[in-house]
Amino acid sequence: MTGTVVRPVPYIDLHAQRQRIAAGVDAAIARVLEHGGFVMGPEVDELEAELAQRAGVAHCLTCASGTTALSMPLLARGIGPGDAVFVPSFTFTSTAEVVALRGATPVFVDVHRASFDMDPRSLESAIATARAAGLTPRCVIPVDLFGRPADYRGVQRVADEHGLWILGDAAQSFGASQHGRPVGSLADVSATSFYPSKPLGCYGDGGAVFTDDEELFERMHAVRVHGQGRDRDTLVSFGLTGRLDSIQAAVLLQKLTIFDDECEQRDRIAARYAEHLSDVVDVPTLGPGDRSVWAQYTLRTDRRDEIVRSLDRCGVPTAIFYRRPLHQQAPYAHFPRAGGGLPITEALANEVVSLPLHPYLDADDQDRVVAGVRAAFGA
Ligand SMILES: *Cc1c(COP(=O)(O)O)cnc(C)c1O
Repeated sequence: MTGTVVRPVPYIDLHAQRQRIAAGVDAAIARVLEHGGFVMGPEVDELEAELAQRAGVAHCLTCASGTTALSMPLLARGIGPGDAVFVPSFTFTSTAEVVALRGATPVFVDVHRASFDMDPRSLESAIATARAAGLTPRCVIPVDLFGRPADYRGVQRVADEHGLWILGDAAQSFGASQHGRPVGSLADVSATSFYPSKPLGCYGDGGAVFTDDEELFERMHAVRVHGQGRDRDTLVSFGLTGRLDSIQAAVLLQKLTIFDDECEQRDRIAARYAEHLSDVVDVPTLGPGDRSVWAQYTLRTDRRDEIVRSLDRCGVPTAIFYRRPLHQQAPYAHFPRAGGGLPITEALANEVVSLPLHPYLDADDQDRVVAGVRAAFGA
């Protein structure tokens, strides 16, 4: 077979999506260029109304990124030095970074092995750790890792008992739901990201927060633009340059016209992978009532290196989220952890591998992915 070049399978395929919606996107961007309201133009209001409706909440505020979205509630609620905010270590940096940047203390919590999300029992023990260190427990940030909603009921029980509010890190999960309730409505306030590779992505950076809390919404509204009150001449707090560009809002409105269909395609491919792979690896699971948007399709296996090599030989890329948990990274190593440590997090870092899964992955490419994984087991 020398000389044959195997066409690589795309890990995500924004090009195929672009071809599908090119006419609509180009026209929408042209309208922004024409009206010239590049910041907080009419597209932003329209997008916020549609996102709030989809999330089943009273208020949505779009903003500059997912990280900005996580920061706005912390600023609005005055989180700062002496406060403990409980976060997983098995997550993207932003979840803990926004806390540390406020001068507050991220306290790391372990996760469930099968579902990758925060373990409420470890949260209880982390709250005890924080109290013993003289910190005030304020907030908990469960993460909807890989597109599946976190255990919000379990986290809520502990949060209620200890007077914490819940900020959902929904950066990977917009469009998912739990017991029929959409992501955005599962926490006191939820933050999502529209980074291009997220299930709903724009053509640059973007994010949004969702809440039913009127007072919090007003405070975040001020935080988004340098602490400006509704009259703009009165500063009510510190804030950020937190706005979303009109062009990104215009792109997102076009992407929303195909988003439900894309989510169904993702579901279908995830089901097909599960059907053909569950005898050789631990495939991702869903809790009762969960619907995932499959931001990543992440396996657990003790043969990770073999799988990665086998797929690479078939022209199939893989990704590892997350190879080094945050508590083992230098900037975060000194922050406190739940009693008993984070054994599941540390095990997962050696076990996980994510496969290509996007709405434009055709049946042939799905078969190549399946064959590549199975080949690592001689199956
Ligand atoms: C992507 C991501 C973020 C940050 O979003 P940005 O838009 O890149 O700032 C935060 N948390 C998690 C879990 C993410 O995956």
